[in-house]
Amino acid sequence: MDLNVPYAERNQAEALGARWEPSRRCWYVPDGMDLLPFRRWFPEQDPGVPGLNLRSLETYVVTAPHRCWRCEKDTVVAGFLMAPGFEDFSVWEDDPDGQGHWGGGEGWRFAFHIDTLPSSIAAQAIMRTPRYRRAFSQATRSAYWANHCSECEAPQSDLQLFEKPGGPFVPRDGDDWPGHRAFRVKGAFEAAGSFGRSVVDATAIPGVRAGSNSGPPVAIASRPTARPTGFSILRTVRRWLGLAPQT
Ligand SMILES: [Zn+2]
Repeated sequence: MDLNVPYAERNQAEALGARWEPSRRCWYVPDGMDLLPFRRWFPEQDPGVPGLNLRSLETYVVTAPHRCWRCEKDTVVAGFLMAPGFEDFSVWEDDPDGQGHWGGGEGWRFAFHIDTLPSSIAAQAIMRTPRYRRAFSQATRSAYWANHCSECEAPQSDLQLFEKPGGPFVPRDGDDWPGHRAFRVKGAFEAAGSFGRSVVDATAIPGVRAGSNSGPPVAIASRPTARPTGFSILRTVRRWLGLAPQT
């Protein structure tokens, strides 16, 4: 697959395994390699425009107590909770026009595995949890936004926080939200990332005041962010992550 790699990032792409094709003056990923680490350079993205695939008018920064896996001390972690009516962008092989489309998301969902976040949105999580920042994942060989322990600075895995049953953002049936607080995000939320299972009882989190995610589309995200590439990149990414939307 060909990549859109800015000149300044060529060494980074090469370190991840991308190769340069001189005849076409183009970086590409050799066949058989995991594409996920190269996601930021996927050709569906206009140069310089991040491929944001999530948007939501009603969104909350939810903070929760959490025990650090490394030092076992208590810390605070944060996640972005999107209200019903959020949208995600996908490109499907069988799209009639091949352009991809924004689709309405159902249920309350936490966004995670976030690799692109506008600074105005990131700032609102950092305001609540100062150790929310970009981290480098050895597993996926890419940078993403992660919570870090306030005691030992260890990154806290999104898998543990957002996907593992019993994690702070994956309450079991009948659990309440011990120590959770929700803070309404100012402005429209946008990100490149994934989202998890539908969260029941999200409105029980102190600070959630549901009901304002309907209405006009998010204006700032109305620009086209993708071009047809002949196959479904986002669907493939979701499959790798095991994150096909589930209700
Ligand atoms: Zn720690």
